[in-house]
Amino acid sequence: MRPFHVATIALISLLAVPLGTTACQAREKPPGEEGGANADLAAVASDALAKASALRGIALPAGHTVKSSVASKADVGRYLGDRLRATDSARLIDDTGRMLRVFGAVKPDFDMMSAFEKAATEQIAGYYDWEKRTLFVADWLPTFVQAPIMVHEATHALQDARFHLARFMTPKAGLEDVQAAVQALIEGDATLVMAEGMFPEGSSPASRQLAFGMMEQQLEAQIANLDIDPVIAESMIFPYARGLRFARLLKDKGGYAAVDAAYKELPRSTEQILHPEKYKGGGAEDPPQRVDFEVPKALAAQGFTLAMPSVLGELGVTTILRRSMAPEAAATAAAGWDGDLALLLGAPGKADAVVLVSVWDSEEDAAEAKAGFATTKNPPRALVQDGAKLAGIWGADVGDPEGVAKAALGAARFGEVVADFPEK
Ligand SMILES: [Zn+2]
Repeated sequence: MRPFHVATIALISLLAVPLGTTACQAREKPPGEEGGANADLAAVASDALAKASALRGIALPAGHTVKSSVASKADVGRYLGDRLRATDSARLIDDTGRMLRVFGAVKPDFDMMSAFEKAATEQIAGYYDWEKRTLFVADWLPTFVQAPIMVHEATHALQDARFHLARFMTPKAGLEDVQAAVQALIEGDATLVMAEGMFPEGSSPASRQLAFGMMEQQLEAQIANLDIDPVIAESMIFPYARGLRFARLLKDKGGYAAVDAAYKELPRSTEQILHPEKYKGGGAEDPPQRVDFEVPKALAAQGFTLAMPSVLGELGVTTILRRSMAPEAAATAAAGWDGDLALLLGAPGKADAVVLVSVWDSEEDAAEAKAGFATTKNPPRALVQDGAKLAGIWGADVGDPEGVAKAALGAARFGEVVADFPEK
């Protein structure tokens, strides 16, 4: 998916599971444990489908077959490359790296694409290829790790049969934050089923509750242990950790029927994943606003053109602010988000610029965000607040940045976010 979201894994819409979500520390298969996994794979896959189907309450329609296969690290790398080419995501990943550099959220020499490829190939333990309707599981993992991963991937196959996942997989401009939220629903749902399958039958609701809580915490804690840039680690873990919590809360309230319903009434922002009460029916529903504006005239006159528009969302804002603030302070500053649009602009021979227009729940929320944005490692050229609205400009020296920010704010239009992902 397109996100600036840094939810980069979403950038290429992999229905993959990172190693950490297995809740047991996955290790390379020890020497001596040969072939067992491959030989037993068909059995593991059909067990996983049966288990996921029973837990999730979705049966595959008659005639709908799902295949299974193992993937080597080279296979994972190839699949990644195919997805990147299929969705124009390579350019989006590069542009996301450029945008992060303008904010100072990554080092000046940060190469988003290599960091992303490294993270993905090292972390992916399995994936579901919806075009081939095939579950792939890493061939370098021992069977006891493969089994729960297969349940996760089998759940994707069931989701796909019922909800047609392909419609969510092509990046859509302006829906970056929605797509990251939908990805969290999809991954959270699959991680929930996997987790339920891992706890012994008959365990008490209280102990299951505790186990889920620990799994969510462990996923979050894992961010610090990954040997990859924290921006990528955080966005990679987000759909699993926060999505798990989102899906679990839905299920606690209304069983899997409530999770099913979320594929119709899609979460429309990462804010709704981070704060499930803001999702429909959560008691404090808060639909996001769509923000639109064009390249400011003063910048167009200096040769700047649009490289990438992107909605940061609460997740993106938090990710940027965490680079210069304590995690709690960043979360507080990003809370109250209600909509934004960031334009990455480039001009030949000049440094990149980012112009951001955002809207917040209240004037106070906007002021908090303003104070947060003032701390970015590359300080903003200007930040202009007008009530609950806030505009900022970073990067290239464009002359009169305050005038540019004011003009962008004045020209911006605000409307409704329509999460439209029609089935073909
Ligand atoms: Zn998954």
